[in-house]
Amino acid sequence: HAKEDIRNSYQFFKEDMNVHITEFVLLERHLFRALDRGEFVIHYQPYYDLKGMIPSGVEALLRWNSEDIGFVFPSRFIPVLESTGLIVKVGEWLLGEVCETIKRIEKPVSVNISPVQFKDKTFPKRVEQVLERHGVDGSFLTLEITESTLMEDVEFAQRSLKRLKSLGVKVAIDDFGTGYSSLAYLKFLPVDFLKIDVSFVREIDTDPDDRAIVNAIIQLAKNLGLRTIAEGIESEEHLQILKELGCDFGQGYFLGKPMPEGEVMRVLGL
Ligand code: C2E
Ligand code: MG
Ligand code: MG
Ligand code: MG
Repeated sequence: HAKEDIRNSYQFFKEDMNVHITEFVLLERHLFRALDRGEFVIHYQPYYDLKGMIPSGVEALLRWNSEDIGFVFPSRFIPVLESTGLIVKVGEWLLGEVCETIKRIEKPVSVNISPVQFKDKTFPKRVEQVLERHGVDGSFLTLEITESTLMEDVEFAQRSLKRLKSLGVKVAIDDFGTGYSSLAYLKFLPVDFLKIDVSFVREIDTDPDDRAIVNAIIQLAKNLGLRTIAEGIESEEHLQILKELGCDFGQGYFLGKPMPEGEVMRVLGL
């Protein structure tokens, strides 16, 4: 059996390394069938306009409940989808599902885009086709792309983003501030939102440095005409400080966890 051969060929690695590779192979084997078996579901986490505390949109987050191995966290299975290239098919399925959701909720939906999807030259065309096929206005869709994905090739990113913007699609830089890149690229890229990473929000009520960093990100965004979304709001204190600092939108367990579409519709008052 081919899979067993792969495992044996790694026997010379250290014990923990071996366990790691075995888990990867195990997940891979089940992920290959997961889409056809209908094991993926999409949960939606609301984000709020912090001025009026109005839920203004949702982020789509992929969930995998395997019939054979149970619930697996995205942090474990997304890397496997990416390194096998399966993310392209799953990502396209997800975009189609999200389009149907947009038609039902008529609110903006954010979708996370993997570097593997983004660096494909045909990606903007694929997005255009999905929107067309489902009859959805691109302005309802926000693509969340990380800084490091955009930085890999700034000129390529600029071309792709321009094409996406021509469809009316919005772009958010996810996990903003966690990369090692210069800020100069913001001048060249047509983006709409900066998502302030949870790592700056977690201790914003106790760590003056985190507060200073978040303040700087918000001021930078304002001066560049971008809007900010803070992720990982887990308490009233987090929320109050982000409001004071003038953050536009907020997302986190304190405001609403990722949940099935039916539930998020109630949150949205639908
Ligand atoms: P992300 O895009 O930065 O998503 C935010 C993560 O923070 C989500 O984890 C969300 O459930 C979690 N979160 C929300 N509120 C809070 C909070 O108050 N506190 C804390 N500590 N965490 C909070 P999740 O769903 O496990 O996703 C993890 C990552 O996996 C995402 O990070 C994203 O990079 C990736 N991912 C999820 N769904 C997709 C997808 O459909 N496609 C791709 N390419 N990546 C995805
Ligand atoms: Mg995201
Ligand atoms: Mg994020
Ligand atoms: Mg994050």
